[in-house]
Amino acid sequence: MEIEPAEEVKEPPRIHRLDESVVNRIAAGEVIQRPVSAVKELVENSLDASSTSISVLVKDGGLKLIQVSDDGHGIRYEDLPILCERHTTSKLSKYEDLQSIKSMGFRGEALASMTYVGHVTVTTITRGQLHGYRVSYRDGVMENEPKACAAVKGTQIVIENLFYNMVARRKTLQNSADDYTKIVDLLSRFAIHHIDVSFSCRKHGAARADVHSVATPSRLNAIRSVYGLSVAQNLIKIEASDNDPSSSVFEMDGFISNSNYVAKKTTMVLFINDRLVECTALKRALEIVYVATLPKASKPFIYMSITLPPEHVDVNVHPTKREVSLLNQEVIVEKIQSVVESVLRNSNESRTFQEQTVEATPSVPSVTNNDLHLSPSPSGSKSQRVPVNKIVRTDSSDPAGRMHAYLYKNPQKYLGRDSSLTTVRSSVRQRRNLKETADLTSIQELINDIDRKCHSGLLDIVRQSTYIGMADDVFALLQHNTHLYLANVVNLSKELMYQQVLRRFAHFNAIQLSEPAPLQELIMLALKEEDSDLESNENDDLKKKIAEMNTQLLNQKSEMLEEYFCIFIDSNGNLSRLPILLDQYTPDMDRVPEFVLCLGNDVEWEEEKNCFQSLAAALGNFYAMHPPMLPNPSGKGLEFYRKRKHGKHTQDGGNSCHVADGTAEEDEFEHELLSEAETAWAQREWSIQHVLFPSMRLFLKPPNSMASNGTFVRVASLEKLYKIFERC
Ligand code: ADP
Ligand code: MG
Repeated sequence: MEIEPAEEVKEPPRIHRLDESVVNRIAAGEVIQRPVSAVKELVENSLDASSTSISVLVKDGGLKLIQVSDDGHGIRYEDLPILCERHTTSKLSKYEDLQSIKSMGFRGEALASMTYVGHVTVTTITRGQLHGYRVSYRDGVMENEPKACAAVKGTQIVIENLFYNMVARRKTLQNSADDYTKIVDLLSRFAIHHIDVSFSCRKHGAARADVHSVATPSRLNAIRSVYGLSVAQNLIKIEASDNDPSSSVFEMDGFISNSNYVAKKTTMVLFINDRLVECTALKRALEIVYVATLPKASKPFIYMSITLPPEHVDVNVHPTKREVSLLNQEVIVEKIQSVVESVLRNSNESRTFQEQTVEATPSVPSVTNNDLHLSPSPSGSKSQRVPVNKIVRTDSSDPAGRMHAYLYKNPQKYLGRDSSLTTVRSSVRQRRNLKETADLTSIQELINDIDRKCHSGLLDIVRQSTYIGMADDVFALLQHNTHLYLANVVNLSKELMYQQVLRRFAHFNAIQLSEPAPLQELIMLALKEEDSDLESNENDDLKKKIAEMNTQLLNQKSEMLEEYFCIFIDSNGNLSRLPILLDQYTPDMDRVPEFVLCLGNDVEWEEEKNCFQSLAAALGNFYAMHPPMLPNPSGKGLEFYRKRKHGKHTQDGGNSCHVADGTAEEDEFEHELLSEAETAWAQREWSIQHVLFPSMRLFLKPPNSMASNGTFVRVASLEKLYKIFERC
């Protein structure tokens, strides 16, 4: 291509038809993104061919060689010439077939794609034949006539030199970690779902297979042989189903890890209608349940198989078929989530109380769960049966409502739940930390206070409302039944964090500061901030004194701060660790100075209960989701980022600012600061929606005071709004 001088008027570029081979190579790159995607396609083909044994051999992470052998029905001799052409398939003939498709493949693209980005050789024999055939393909066509050869039952497909003609792709793959682990992971997943098929996966030259499963009638056996005993022995069976066409129709069965299972990463093996897929909404929903139910929860292991009527699943939404879209996904996710929740809670409770060696706090009767098999019984949730005029889609950001799929909405399942949760937690705590907690009844008293002061109406709103969006910097708009509320997120988050400190007391995970921060300097900063308007240096000595004294005080208390609150102050007086109050959330570090000053000034150190309460309040205030320090650039705050012309006039010669064209106007802003502010505000909004509100549903007990202090304001009734709209 020629580069034209900038002054010349640009001719529109010519449009031409891409060479067929270029089109095919581009398409191939989409379907076969990495070696593991080729393996997935090949194994799925073998499964579609009714194989009972599938073995995979891999060399150089799949770039040199991928070989998949099966004992399936094989490929007819007559079909070999078109086998690797695009859009040749034996599985689909008309579009409508897609509605009821049971096979994994249907696009007839995989094999073709592979021939455009690698060298493919197929060896196959069909039943009743004396010999098989071998043929190689390139760019969709046979390289030679099929040659007769000896063959064992089934098909063997070999791909060599994958991406030989895609230099960039090959380079990135060579530099990144080998795909072999991904391939092993993939085969492991297949192996625990298709338990009537034996799988093996081996690295070229290795004596042992890394996945080796034999057909077995027991899923648990399969999991044991693939993932090991430590996984298999910590699993709980789980089932759910629904058969109400007005809400959802599905069956689910699977295994989920219990509280003894330990892992840093979630393993979620999900099959929907026998297709290995991913569903982020479901995964998140379940992770949240684990965090909420098991104290100090590990990440879960989940195997789940969901079956729906084929016409409820759109399998054709992703080129690699990795994702599918479901009818009523939101409802299904929610139902599965609550089943997992109750199963875990039951298992957790029985275990805790069995192992209990000390007298537990009188236990609240555990929540009985007769809705393990979800069916729309008369006691089914009212929220699913609202009159049509009251069904309002409240999720502005996502028409499919996916964002909210992991929020709790079923009220009746949560009644009385938190009290049992508290009991479980406190008993777990006692069991684990008997000595430590023996004399800390004050924490229990503070938690009891929270329960006692909880406002049931507000609790209902917190648990059942839907987050719509932020109305301004401080208020979020919520919908609860047919009412709209404004809710003050600063107050709410402050209270939630306060309660979390007490609940997680002495059991926090830590946030490590990237650099330890000297307390004394932090306090100085905060003091200066406090009277920044005065701009006087006179008080500096006094400030230093205050900072010194406060640092001393905190140093003295450091042991307690660390042990109970995970606030770590090292021997040099540096703050280096803070507690995690909510997973996925770190506080605004701009507020550290203020917090440290508050520790020194506002905490009542004398009496235990007051001390814990004021410390929890100080943490609560620090972690609350305050508006960021930088003004909100999406409103009037934008002005703040306008460059002050007088200060900068030399830079642009002082004349271009007045020109009303786009570029000059843009130049008037402090871009770096502006983008920092935009990020801070966007992050906060994300946290409010995805961390604060979901966590509030699980943990917050709104105090009575919130009913009258402006934290919740009812703004409108949707019924009235509807009447108004109807009249229009
Ligand atoms: P799709 O699976 O979408 O039909 P593919 O390109 O993956 O498309 O495969 C094309 C066709 O080749 C399949 O429809 C099937 O008939 C045949 N085929 C591929 N692999 C095998 C196999 N291992 N055993 C038997 N037939 C196979
Ligand atoms: Mg296929």
